[in-house]
Amino acid sequence: MAQQSPANKAPTGYDDTPFIPGTEWRVHDGTRPQPRIITPVAESSQNEPPSDAIVLFDGSDLSKWTGRDGDAAWKVENGYMEVTRAGNIETKEHFGDCQLHLEWAAPAEVKGDSQGRGNSGVFLMGNYEIQVLDGYDNPTYADGITAAIYGQYPPLVNACRKPGEWQTYDIFFLAPRFGGQKLISPAYITVVHNGVLVQNHQAAMGPTGHRQAPSYSEPHPPQGPIMLQDHGDLVRYRNIWIRTL
Ligand code: MG
Repeated sequence: MAQQSPANKAPTGYDDTPFIPGTEWRVHDGTRPQPRIITPVAESSQNEPPSDAIVLFDGSDLSKWTGRDGDAAWKVENGYMEVTRAGNIETKEHFGDCQLHLEWAAPAEVKGDSQGRGNSGVFLMGNYEIQVLDGYDNPTYADGITAAIYGQYPPLVNACRKPGEWQTYDIFFLAPRFGGQKLISPAYITVVHNGVLVQNHQAAMGPTGHRQAPSYSEPHPPQGPIMLQDHGDLVRYRNIWIRTL
């Protein structure tokens, strides 16, 4: 069941989902403590990529990306891309261990609440979601707030800027290792949000999912795409680059 959800509101938590392994919390538990709110530095970077980076989006086109029906059909204008209702998009090239930089902005005009407000997501290997959400003064379940490893780990703090402002993610990702059907080592995820460490070398419990207990029961290939989520909200991205490790 969903908690605290009058008919016209998005749920801010669940009390009927499986427990997250090794924790006292259910997936998307509405009673899990919220990350402390802090104020990050005011500026966003939009720095030049380092010389060995693969530029995935420089503001001009989506040639490095593919979408549901072939071409990535998100809108590109004014140096950014914006979600349309064309489905998720993902990189044509696949990656394993990497450093990923991107910048995003939730709509300046606030619509919806909880998970229905400025929701998108950055999926490493198409499987591990770092939540993108307008988490500024927006109550929702802790493992679904901005920069959560979705359904697993809330961020260490909530470092959100206001809706409409550009925000940065710097993600350091080590892919999981499988030997046949068996997990040898999990994915490790570090995230810096607006210059603040919010995920510190967290061992992912498996691919992320909605209302699902995570597990590595199904091995996946050693590389996968970077995927950006169409969750129906008009989130923007710019300055996306990656370094393979
Ligand atoms: Mg999302």
